[in-house]
Amino acid sequence: MISQLLQSGNDLFDLLYPVSCLVCGDRLDDDRHLCSYCMEHAFMPTNEEGEESCEGLVLPGWITMQDALWEFDKGGFLQDVLHHVKYSGLADLGIALGEELGYKLLKNRFLRIADDTILLPVPLHPSRQRKRGYNQSELIARGISTVTGARIAPERAMRRVKNTRTQTGLNASARKKNLSGAFELVDEEPFRGRRVVVVDDVITTGATAFELAAQVRRLCGDIGVATIARA
Ligand SMILES: [Zn+2]
Repeated sequence: MISQLLQSGNDLFDLLYPVSCLVCGDRLDDDRHLCSYCMEHAFMPTNEEGEESCEGLVLPGWITMQDALWEFDKGGFLQDVLHHVKYSGLADLGIALGEELGYKLLKNRFLRIADDTILLPVPLHPSRQRKRGYNQSELIARGISTVTGARIAPERAMRRVKNTRTQTGLNASARKKNLSGAFELVDEEPFRGRRVVVVDDVITTGATAFELAAQVRRLCGDIGVATIARA
């Protein structure tokens, strides 16, 4: 009897709070899939807020600034969280991570978000976007936009014309080759004279972000790259 009562209590709890934190398992009353404690403490920061770019990543001279929220943890919780954002359609989680990144960017003295900043999420190839139904980079950009007020480049302005194979397992030069010609600038107007920040979930060698940024390089002022993780 008691165990039955406990079971129905659990069922009620499941019904009231169907979402739990992906890291600690606590029940949540929203759809963000990450509790505020884990958002603050579960992952390793890449650098101090307001400090210069992440160490060890080689940026082309024309990329003014790069920032990432956390260090990628292969096989760890962050990998799991980012996998869910990419493949499980957890839109609110993607937006929440973007907001967290937005707060960090606001404190960054180098990658300044200003009135003229336009966020450029890395586009997915249309066939992949159709299959998935959303673009994780766009979700992250939405979060950054909410916090900073920076506008997001219109989706039609930049296209992914090459459905590239996964970058995993490729070395730096193979990644670069794989990405070459992957993007096509359709409309220059949204980028002209602006400060552009490329937005992605993870930066490894930077091949994707740099190839994308190169499409708008001649049009805009500063170009930066902001990601949730740095691998
Ligand atoms: Zn948690």
